[in-house]
Amino acid sequence: MFCPSCKTYRLKLVDSHKSFQSLSEDIQRRQYRCPCRYAKTVYVVPQELLQEYKELKSKAEQIVRLLTDSTQTLKDCSSCSFWDHNAVKCDLGLPEAGGTFAEECSSYLDKNGGHL
Ligand SMILES: [Zn+2]
Repeated sequence: MFCPSCKTYRLKLVDSHKSFQSLSEDIQRRQYRCPCRYAKTVYVVPQELLQEYKELKSKAEQIVRLLTDSTQTLKDCSSCSFWDHNAVKCDLGLPEAGGTFAEECSSYLDKNGGHL
């Protein structure tokens, strides 16, 4: 196998066994070593476990995105296309308009035509 450290094909599999530290016995731990002292460990995981991991990771990333976006892009009514800056009121006549209520408004429309 190709060694990324010394750029030769001397990287060899030296050990392969079930991973006893993991919860699943389906996970196999493989260790590779090269005479140049480069070593790497690879975990071979069943397709279902990998899929489950990817889905959980994706959900976690979505949650992080939701939590960070809601604080970073807090929109208020003055950035909405329906906001009348001269009359200082909502063109749609929404009585609760003003302040940060845009966050809860289903009619919010930004200058690029985007909804919340
Ligand atoms: Zn090497």
